[in-house]
Amino acid sequence: MAEGCGPLLRGDNGEAKPLRQQVFEHVRARGRATRAETARDVGISAGSVTQISADLIARGLLEEVEETDRAAVRGRPPIALSVVGSSGCVLGVKLSDQIHSAMISDFAGAELGALTSEARAGRRPMAERVDEVAALVERTLTQVGLDLSALSALAVGLPGLVDHDRGHVLWSPLMRETDIDLKAALEARLGLPVHLDNDVNMLGLAELWFGAGRAKSDFAVVTIEQGVGMGMVLGNRPFRGSRGMGLELGHTKVQLDGALCRCGKRGCLEAYVADYALAREAAIALDHGPETIAAPHRAIEALFQEARAGNRAARTIFSRAGRYLSLGLSNVVQLFDPELIILSGARMRYDYLYADEVLAEVAALSLNEGRTPARIEIHAWGDLVWARGATALALSAETDRILGGAA
Ligand SMILES: [Zn+2]
Repeated sequence: MAEGCGPLLRGDNGEAKPLRQQVFEHVRARGRATRAETARDVGISAGSVTQISADLIARGLLEEVEETDRAAVRGRPPIALSVVGSSGCVLGVKLSDQIHSAMISDFAGAELGALTSEARAGRRPMAERVDEVAALVERTLTQVGLDLSALSALAVGLPGLVDHDRGHVLWSPLMRETDIDLKAALEARLGLPVHLDNDVNMLGLAELWFGAGRAKSDFAVVTIEQGVGMGMVLGNRPFRGSRGMGLELGHTKVQLDGALCRCGKRGCLEAYVADYALAREAAIALDHGPETIAAPHRAIEALFQEARAGNRAARTIFSRAGRYLSLGLSNVVQLFDPELIILSGARMRYDYLYADEVLAEVAALSLNEGRTPARIEIHAWGDLVWARGATALALSAETDRILGGAA
């Protein structure tokens, strides 16, 4: 059976999708599914599935495939439905301070190509970022031999306060201006629908569509890189808060008058566990010099190697960060009571983050009497996880556009 992509459970978000969209999404999530399985799982009659699938086949969105790996019925292999990958093409982009990344996928969610490019650091004018995105889109398309007309939608994730519904970036460490209409600027430049979101929501979507969250409709994702991010997926959708700010776990306070955070306040979780916090300590304790603070990414790698080699100071830095992380995770457990917390991202190979002591400390700090404690899973992805999550946002929005309307 093909693997498929997208949420495996039906989210309960109070608004029923049209049946044709439910059928399509069911088939895409399963990879391939027979009409009988689809009728059973979506909860509709066989006649409805026949009619809807005929319509989706006529529109070029689904096709019939032989289930050669299953037992033949009356001498013929059973026929299943599958998404026509070439029926659409979307591109996901993640902007960051160090490396931008992009991934292009077909409408079945299969990756067609991906690349990364060096980013200009710091807060830049919006026009420069628009140029960068356009260049990235062009290079990715060239890599796979397609042109702009092949793309149905683009999704862009970036750090900061992003108003997903309006497509505005209220504030971002990558943008010089505030409250900018980045969606409109990119749509004008590229001539296709553009969807924006906070980058951590991209990570939640990557887990929901392609990762450990596929079989859960409600879960939390926590990531530690330049900052500490958190996404909540509720009913198969990222929870974006009432003002689109999302959840700033990194700026919850774990110490009154504590370490200085890059947000300007003190005692934030991020100021103890993010890359720059560890680089700051390494600069002092291990004589790494001020350049480590300017390039925390490399500094953390060096620090990790020293800890592995048995350097006591390096180990202390990691274990202290781990204890603060436990505190932050235990607060997530107490506030949201999630069934699953996924520690996700490219940096999860630093095993101090999920050392047994860290997980034991989370349990010790949380009130769990008589209940199963929240499960914590570690998911180490490559650098392209963010761009992959962005493709999920574009796929989801494009599916809503073509199948979600009343027509
Ligand atoms: Zn802060």
